[in-house]
Amino acid sequence: MISAILFLIAGFLLGHLMPRVPFILLSRTSGFNKGFPPHPEPIPLSPRLTQRVLHMRWFHNLGTITTILPLVFGYLSILGGQSTFGYGLFLAGGWTLLNRLQVFLGGQTVPCTVDMALRLQMVMNIADSEEACCPYPQPQWWIESVRCESCSKKLEDMARPDLGRPRKDGFFRGWLRLWLSDGYPMVRPDEPQN
Ligand SMILES: [Zn+2]
Repeated sequence: MISAILFLIAGFLLGHLMPRVPFILLSRTSGFNKGFPPHPEPIPLSPRLTQRVLHMRWFHNLGTITTILPLVFGYLSILGGQSTFGYGLFLAGGWTLLNRLQVFLGGQTVPCTVDMALRLQMVMNIADSEEACCPYPQPQWWIESVRCESCSKKLEDMARPDLGRPRKDGFFRGWLRLWLSDGYPMVRPDEPQN
């Protein structure tokens, strides 16, 4: 009985982790992160950063597709006689898939969105225009918002999600944190956004 429960939990954990492997592992290589300051320092706004947001969105969407793996392996395990392990995989895969499908109901999306990239671009456009916050605007993305490095003005109330940089809290803890947060910002903006 205990071994059955352990198999179920192991299956569930594995099935939950599989769809998250692309964004937890693929983006952490040092070559992919050249030109960005090390985590968790603020990142200066640039077309490169905007592109990174779109790359991360792609990694998350790739994860949604890899949800098929735990579903298929779960099904095969059930057929093969290792049914509790298979149910665990199946449950976790199904859970993740339902979660991601909420996008179509207007619910939670992936942590990095096209809207986010557009808002970064808007801040850069304003910084280059006559409406800039100060003579030498240097917009940077901090953990809780986009602020100007020169005059400290808050330019956009947008918390920073995980952007794929290797984490300062080390491989294992950073990895655990990513798994738990799913790449969403650990802080929320002061006021809810509509
Ligand atoms: Zn400024």
